[in-house]
Amino acid sequence: MARKCTCQICKSKGDTATFYKVTDDKGKNKYYCSKAEYNHFNIEKEKKQLLMKYIAEEVLGYVDGQIVPPILIKKIGDLNKFYDYEVIHKCFELNNDSIKYWIENKGFTSEYGMISYIMKIIESNINDLYKQWKYHKQQTSTIENNVLDVSIINEIEITKPVNKKVDHGILDFLDENEL
Ligand SMILES: [Zn+2]
Repeated sequence: MARKCTCQICKSKGDTATFYKVTDDKGKNKYYCSKAEYNHFNIEKEKKQLLMKYIAEEVLGYVDGQIVPPILIKKIGDLNKFYDYEVIHKCFELNNDSIKYWIENKGFTSEYGMISYIMKIIESNINDLYKQWKYHKQQTSTIENNVLDVSIINEIEITKPVNKKVDHGILDFLDENEL
């Protein structure tokens, strides 16, 4: 018998017959609207963790386990309402040297001031990057469709057999000559 359940991510109500079930390491069943929603959520979570780790260790020079300022987490969250974590991550990478320069030379008296300044640098550079990222996504969307829906693979391979580009990973979407 199907029971009522709630999606762990978006809190939609449904039932155990149609929702996607994941059994956690304690043997407890958790339900999600769909496998796609569950996978997407986990990918986003992983991207966020990679980004925060990068900022903490490579930008701020924190040691493992040191707490990232809450204001930074909030501001990254605000940016992520529009920009993908991949774009934010790439933006931090490309501006790392200049951010480090300002941290060393600006003489910030508060963590809040420093974080706000860093985020201004990111905000003023992110749109150019976003355009390139979006373009890249469109170029590689064929591949993504293949991953999402196996039945589409066959159709695409019949119509577009040789024109497939390999995606080299989440942060590798810029060619050197695009910088
Ligand atoms: Zn849901």
